[in-house]
Amino acid sequence: MATLWAAQALTDSGWAKDVRVVVDASGQITSVTAGAPMTADTISDVLLPAPANAHSHAFQRAMAGLTERRGPNARDTFWTWRELMFRFLDRLTPDHVEAIAAFVQMEMLEAGYATNVEFHYLHHGPGGHPYTNLAEMVERIAAAASRTGIGLTLLPVLYQFGGCDRRALDPGQVRFGNDINRFAKLHEQSATALRALPSDSVVGIAPHSLRAVNPMTLVDLVELHPAGPVHMHLAEQIAEVDEVRAFVGQRPVEWVLDNLTLGKRFTFIHCTQMEAHETEGLARSGATAGLCPITESSLGDGIFDGDRWLATGGSIAIGSDSNIRIALSEELRTLEYSQRLRDRSRAVLASPNQSTGRVLFDAVAKGGATASGRATGAIKAGNWADLVALDHGHIDLEGRQGDTILDSFIFAGDDRMVCDVWSAGRHIVQGGRHVARESITMAYRSAIRELGEAI
Ligand code: ZN
Repeated sequence: MATLWAAQALTDSGWAKDVRVVVDASGQITSVTAGAPMTADTISDVLLPAPANAHSHAFQRAMAGLTERRGPNARDTFWTWRELMFRFLDRLTPDHVEAIAAFVQMEMLEAGYATNVEFHYLHHGPGGHPYTNLAEMVERIAAAASRTGIGLTLLPVLYQFGGCDRRALDPGQVRFGNDINRFAKLHEQSATALRALPSDSVVGIAPHSLRAVNPMTLVDLVELHPAGPVHMHLAEQIAEVDEVRAFVGQRPVEWVLDNLTLGKRFTFIHCTQMEAHETEGLARSGATAGLCPITESSLGDGIFDGDRWLATGGSIAIGSDSNIRIALSEELRTLEYSQRLRDRSRAVLASPNQSTGRVLFDAVAKGGATASGRATGAIKAGNWADLVALDHGHIDLEGRQGDTILDSFIFAGDDRMVCDVWSAGRHIVQGGRHVARESITMAYRSAIRELGEAI
C-alpha cells in the first residue's frame, strides 16, 4: 500500500486540487480523494495519468541517426530506409535485443509513458533459423521489462510473405517469418513468458500488415484469438495502398472495414493514407488509430487526418514506432503541428471547450488504454496506478494551472518536466531519472559499440 498526494491532479472527473491517491500492493488505485491533507509517501506538484506507448519496434532504437544520408537512388523513401533497417537487424543477437529493449523502455518511462506496447517481429536467428527456444527474443523483451518495471503489452507478430503476391520472404525478412502453426506455438510460449512478469502484463496478436499476411489467414487468426488486443500496420504508404488494391481488389482500410468485425480490440498503426470515407468509416468502427507522428515524419509517411478522425469520434493512441526519438510531449506536438501545416490553421485538434493540449492528452491516455488492453488511462479507483508527475517548478510551468499545464508541457516544454513515473504502482522514475539508469545505459552503450555504424 502506498499513498501519493498532488497539489493538482487530472482525475477521471477533471482537474482537482490537493488529491490523495491510494495504491494497493498489486499496483491498483483503490481511492482518489480531492481536498485531502498533505500527508503521503510521495508528494507531487502535478499528477497525470501516464499514457501507454502504443507502438514500438525496440531494436530500431539502435539505428537512430544512421539513416540520414542520401543513397544512390533518385529519392530516399520509406522503402530505401526499410532496406537499411533489414541490413541493420541482421547482426542483432538476443543480448543486443535485451539491452536495447531495456534502454528503450527506460526512455519511455522517463518521457512519461507507463506502458510499452511492443509490436515484436524479430523472432529468429540470422538466416531465419529459429532459436532452440522459439520464444528466445520474447523472453529477452520480457527480461527487459522485468529490469525496467514498465508495463508490457507484448504483441507477437505474424509475418508470412514478402508482399501481397505471397512471394517468399527476402533475406532481410527471414528472421520475422512464421507459418500459422509455428506462430500459434510462439504465441502460446509468449503468454507463458509473460507469466514471469507482474500481473499487469498483457499478450495480444499482431498480423503485420496486409502486405505480409494472407487476408484470409488474418480473418482466421482474429477468430482463433477472441480476446486481447489486435494490432496491424495499415495504410502507411501510397505504394502499400496500391499494392493491396492490386492484389486484394480494395484499398486496405476498405478491406478491413468489409472483412473484419471491428471494435475496440483493434488498433491500426499509421493510417496516414486514408480517403475521407475511410477515415470516417474506421473512426466509427471503434478501432483505435495508433499514431507515431515523429516516425511518420522521419519516414515521410504522410499526414493523418486527425481533425476528421476526432470529429467523427475516433480513438487515437500514440507510439514511438522506430524509436528515433522517444518523447511523449514531442509526439503530441508533432501530431498537432502536422495538422496546422496542412490546414494553415491553429489549434486544429482543440475543441470549443478544451485546449489542444487537453484534447490530445485525454485522447491518447484513453486510446492508449484501449490499445494496450490495460486498465489505465485515467486516475480512478480500479485502474492500474500508471501515473506521471510534472515539476511545477519548471520555468515554463510557472503559475500555470489546469489545461494550460498540458499546453505548456506539449508546446513549450519537453520531457525534462517529467519528474516521477509509476507503472502499476512501481515508482521507477524518481527526480526525472530511471532508478536503474546507469546500468541500463552501460549495457546499451556496449551493445551499440558492438553494432557500430555500419549499415
Ligand atoms: Zn511499426
